[in-house]
Amino acid sequence: MSFENLGLRQEILTGVKLQGYVKPTPIQQQAIPVIMQGRDILAGAQTGTGKTAAFALPLLHLLTARKASGVYRPRALVLEPTRELAAQVGESVETYGRGLRIRSTVIFGGVGIKPQIQCLRQGVDIVIGTPGRLLDLAGQKILDLSGIEVLVLDEADRMLDMGFIHDIRKIIRLVPKKRQTLFFSATYSKEIKVLADTILSKPELVEVTRRNTSPDTVGQSVFRVPKSRKRELLSHLIREGDWSQVLVFTRTKHGANRLAQQLETDGIMAAAIHGNKSQAARTRALADFKSCKVRALVATDIAARGLDIDRLPHVVNYELPQVAQDYVHRIGRTGRAGCTGEAISLQGEDEANLLYAIERLIKKEIPVNSIEGFSIPVKGTDKREAAGIEAHRRGGRGGNKASFRGGNLGGFKANSSGGRRRQTHKR
Ligand code: AMP
Repeated sequence: MSFENLGLRQEILTGVKLQGYVKPTPIQQQAIPVIMQGRDILAGAQTGTGKTAAFALPLLHLLTARKASGVYRPRALVLEPTRELAAQVGESVETYGRGLRIRSTVIFGGVGIKPQIQCLRQGVDIVIGTPGRLLDLAGQKILDLSGIEVLVLDEADRMLDMGFIHDIRKIIRLVPKKRQTLFFSATYSKEIKVLADTILSKPELVEVTRRNTSPDTVGQSVFRVPKSRKRELLSHLIREGDWSQVLVFTRTKHGANRLAQQLETDGIMAAAIHGNKSQAARTRALADFKSCKVRALVATDIAARGLDIDRLPHVVNYELPQVAQDYVHRIGRTGRAGCTGEAISLQGEDEANLLYAIERLIKKEIPVNSIEGFSIPVKGTDKREAAGIEAHRRGGRGGNKASFRGGNLGGFKANSSGGRRRQTHKR
């Protein structure tokens, strides 16, 4: 199927071509025709599947094709969980709609409200934003939601994780009952189902990835390394692999800051991105990373959610996520839109259970990778735990003891590369 078959306006097709898209992705093939018919949609799609264009292209088409009412007020509202995602989707909408007379704006907290007020007063068709600031502006009667024809909930699961449910319900009460609603979520929980049931009307179900699976385009591996040596191993991997861009996940904001500083000490340009940073600092870090001025971007889960970095080759889980599902979200930053990517996890001595939970979720064993000199000394309770995990990992297929190169912790200098072999044990 080609974009031409989807019935989109010529201006939009030109915008798509300028982006270099040749063929619609599966979510686009399935969702666009349904949205063009004016129907509600419940879509299971992760970031990286092309879901933004899947709603943005038909949205632009519909708004252009339909006659606007006499009053100039927003006609479409796109809800996003994070500022970064709102900004990114805003950029995509601008790009795809370049040839059209549709105006859009992005609204989120953490930045001055005045320019946003000014933009809304000048009149816009599409508002893309995070729930808190949107409600603030609606409360001040600056944002008029009574003319919304299309409501999009993007990454609904993440919005719920972030505690936006009450804000979402308030927003739903402010938009007209008669509207088209497009609901996107990477995962389905009971809460998601309840929310979807209450706000959608006879939705068409579209699902492009089985839930909780890891994308096939991402090569996954795990290094089992003492916590105290993770940073040394990371620096080594970046340097030896000559990585130009790596997104590194830590569990805490403090950990992200500290690791970025340590990488800089190792001579690797790095920046941290998380919720405590000002919006300006986050935008700058992301721009520097995209332009390859910064080689390593260290992020927490929430800050990185939905980040769209074209052809990002490497993702590292410096600390394994507490919630296994976050693993799928994290590695989904790479291997997007047909490109391949590599996701490496560094499992510390106290993270065996987290790895186990991830493998159970994705129903796949993650191959163990090792570099001589970096491995976990197995002892005491760790040993019992590791043995249990090993038994699970072997899963009656004969096992592979070579996964660990135990004990040899000395003798490795981060700067020396001579003769060290990296080994992957595939089973
Ligand atoms: P998304 O899932 O919306 O975050 O999109 C992921 C990436 O896929 C973005 O970098 C898009 O620019 C890209 N993309 C979207 N649609 C297509 C397409 N049809 N062909 C190639 N790349 C695409």
